[in-house]
Amino acid sequence: MLPVVALVGRPNVGKSTLFNRLTNTRDALVADYPGLTRDRKYGQATYDRKQFIVVDTGGITGDEEGIDEHMARQSLLAIDEADVVLFMLDARAGLMPADQGIAEHLRKVNKKVFLVANKVDGIDGDSESAEFYKLGLGNVYQIAAAHGRGVSQLLNTSMAPLAEDFPEMAVVDEGKDEEISTEEQRERLRNLPIKMAIVGKPNVGKSTLTNRMLGEERVVVYDMPGTTRDSIYIPLERDDREYILIDTAGVRKRRKVSEAVEKFSIVKTLQAIEESSVVLLVVDAREGISDQDLSLLGFVLNSGRSLVIAVNKWDGLNTDIKDEIKRELDRRLGFVDFARLHFISALHGSGVGNLFESVIEAYESATKRVNTALLTQIMEMAQEEHQPPLVRGRRVKMKYAHAGGYNPPVVVIHGNQVDDLPSSYKRYLMNYFRRSLNVMGTPIRIEFREGA
Ligand code: GDP
Ligand code: GDP
Repeated sequence: MLPVVALVGRPNVGKSTLFNRLTNTRDALVADYPGLTRDRKYGQATYDRKQFIVVDTGGITGDEEGIDEHMARQSLLAIDEADVVLFMLDARAGLMPADQGIAEHLRKVNKKVFLVANKVDGIDGDSESAEFYKLGLGNVYQIAAAHGRGVSQLLNTSMAPLAEDFPEMAVVDEGKDEEISTEEQRERLRNLPIKMAIVGKPNVGKSTLTNRMLGEERVVVYDMPGTTRDSIYIPLERDDREYILIDTAGVRKRRKVSEAVEKFSIVKTLQAIEESSVVLLVVDAREGISDQDLSLLGFVLNSGRSLVIAVNKWDGLNTDIKDEIKRELDRRLGFVDFARLHFISALHGSGVGNLFESVIEAYESATKRVNTALLTQIMEMAQEEHQPPLVRGRRVKMKYAHAGGYNPPVVVIHGNQVDDLPSSYKRYLMNYFRRSLNVMGTPIRIEFREGA
């Protein structure tokens, strides 16, 4: 499970600044789901090759009425879903009554809390942050979020208790070719259930789709208690194939009422993506692709998971509108052209059965083993059909290729000056490999290595 780190504190202590530093902003997944998680911003962060989720909140002012009350509620929810809380204080402003209030709350909840004195740049950090020890929450870590000072030390310490929870980033398994036959490979994969996460914004039809999938006559659903804090795992069988459906929509109820959570949660969604082999992203045909959909897609892409997109509520639309929607989808989803698009009606069931075929295809594509000889042959064909360009007067020469991992498939290409290949040529190669290997539903990553 991806650990969750929440940034809490009064407004203006520097939470957003730290958030941006941790997530590099370009990965920030700004969630603005009306009435649900407004004021909570989620991002992916990586530290020392470990991935985690960061949640930023508006803040707690201590004067909880009106807007402040809403904001505070968001902060409390963020604390609730976090594994680690970074409680931020402003070393320049000193200790404020609102800080005391937050500390009081944090002492009551059973969370790992780290006190962070921010803005220690240009001041005497030791003396200015001394009074924060009064909060009785242990050591105070001095940082300057704006400049990055003290941040790695803070992460070193605060992430340590979570060491076991961290999924390691995919490590490229260099040169490890498993020469196994396609038959053997099929047999092996057949025995593994496909973990499929159904994700999407609220109201796109996830619950309806999940119920529809579970309700299909040919589907056998097993009973399995909730095993994770976030989503319920539902094993099901269809056409002799086993799946584990990761239910983010809360279709299956938890046994204990106390475990009931918000119907929709971003953390739950991100965790489900991370846990899955194939993501089934549901979008609403009538709403089009929103920024939230794009944020989710961004997360799926980053995670390297396989992807199938279901455009739901395809019922009762006239041909003109359908054509218009298709054009719009083509335009906005060009960057995930490896994913199959299905037009379905979860409500009436049309198109739902076909989703399974694409899920299997995506899974098998992602886990396909390909040997060095074949990859090198494909690379040579690509090179013959379309020569790499000259770089500083010399022609880039690709020498050989091998598999560098799977799920998602990684192709490692060795050669001279391959690092200098323009991105257009890299894209050409990626598409060439995709077509030649008949890979659909999964991104392919190509890595380049200098020399032989
Ligand atoms: P938030 O409301 O807690 O999210 O706070 P912001 O991140 O928006 O920061 C509030 C203000 O403090 C902004 O003007 C920041 O530029 C400033 N700030 C944040 N971090 C630092 C820091 O490390 N040093 C200094 N001097 N200012 C900072
Ligand atoms: P979730 O929040 O993503 O789980 O969405 P729900 O499954 O609860 O569906 C939200 C609303 O959309 C409900 O009123 C559903 O009846 C409706 N809905 C779901 N799927 C379809 C569909 O295929 N067609 C139509 N017309 N409505 C649908």
